[in-house]
Amino acid sequence: MPDLRSNLPNVRGKLLLDQPLAPYTWFRVGGPADALFLPADEDDLADFLKALPEDIPVTFMGVGSNTIVRDGGIEGVTIRLMGGYWGKVEPGGPNSLFARAGALDLSVAKASAKAGIAGLTFLSGIPGSIGGAVRTNAGCYGRELKDVANQIEGITRSGERVRFEAEIAQYGDPKIDFSYRHTNFPGDIIVTGLLLTGSGEGDPGELEQEIADHQARRAETQPIKDKTGGSTFANPDPPGTPNQRSSWKLIDQAGCRGLRVGGAQVSEKHCNFLINTGEATAADIEALGELVRARVLAETGVDLRWEIRRIGRIQTPQT
Ligand SMILES: Cc1cc2nc3c(=O)[nH]c(=O)nc-3n(C[C@H](O)[C@H](O)[C@H](O)COP(=O)(O)OP(=O)(O)OC[C@H]3O[C@@H](n4cnc5c(N)ncnc54)[C@H](O)[C@@H]3O)c2cc1C
Repeated sequence: MPDLRSNLPNVRGKLLLDQPLAPYTWFRVGGPADALFLPADEDDLADFLKALPEDIPVTFMGVGSNTIVRDGGIEGVTIRLMGGYWGKVEPGGPNSLFARAGALDLSVAKASAKAGIAGLTFLSGIPGSIGGAVRTNAGCYGRELKDVANQIEGITRSGERVRFEAEIAQYGDPKIDFSYRHTNFPGDIIVTGLLLTGSGEGDPGELEQEIADHQARRAETQPIKDKTGGSTFANPDPPGTPNQRSSWKLIDQAGCRGLRVGGAQVSEKHCNFLINTGEATAADIEALGELVRARVLAETGVDLRWEIRRIGRIQTPQT
């Protein structure tokens, strides 16, 4: 890789070297980004990507609610779309909103209630950014991103703007498939905005109540005040499967509720959630997840799939 510092293009947004990433993740763990870029807007982002040498790795992050950044930090440039410009949610046509990628899912849900658009309040249950929701086809309460994403706009690693209409890709040919907590959306495209379409008109007061209900339900069943990353493992069977198995039940069955590695613990409240109890490292959390997987496999024969993204370098011990 060429020397990073001397190869970084000029930008209008912020470009920070050796920037700690732990404060930008829900787990509050992880090492620094070699460089963190916070673009001012789409032109700034596209110009930067066009000028950045191809062999410098680029990583995208939202608000880090589904991510473990490893303790050795992230090589190359990490890009976050945060701040005023990236958080905008605007009217997008009949029963639709256009949200820039950095908008929180909760802000989109609230905007939909205000605009009287039904079918988008489920987003209030997901504490990420709407751009981040694409990567795992985020969803809850029986709805997923794919049910509401009408268009997805993005920028490729080489700085080209692309737009996907519903499920048809205009970038290359492949169809974008979304399935349970999974998509084949190209990993080298940063999502910059989404056109989201609800199911019809709704009463704003009732929609606000739906959001309040979703949030109350979350607070009751999930450790949302802890340093966590949401559901650690995807359920083995997609929603709708007869006799669907839940990851949390398998983890409980394997005796892992409350299990600890270093400062990381399996939540007592919801055992598909891992928690940083205060002093955990990313290595503690990842090792705990692997221990849970191994015990579940031994006890139940089910090989759980990580839903949480694990990115960056493993820290090598100091000699
Ligand atoms: C308490 C709690 C509850 C949760 N409940 C749910 C739930 O009910 N349902 C659910 O689906 N998830 C849930 N999650 C997980 C998480 O909130 C979602 O996966 C969310 O969509 C992640 O968004 P993010 O902005 O935090 O993404 P990050 O964690 O920052 O990134 C996740 C992935 O998305 C990619 N990414 C982020 N932004 C972009 C972008 N602009 N363009 C391209 N790729 C991008 C990253 O590269 C990474 O691969 C929960 C998490 C927590 C902490």
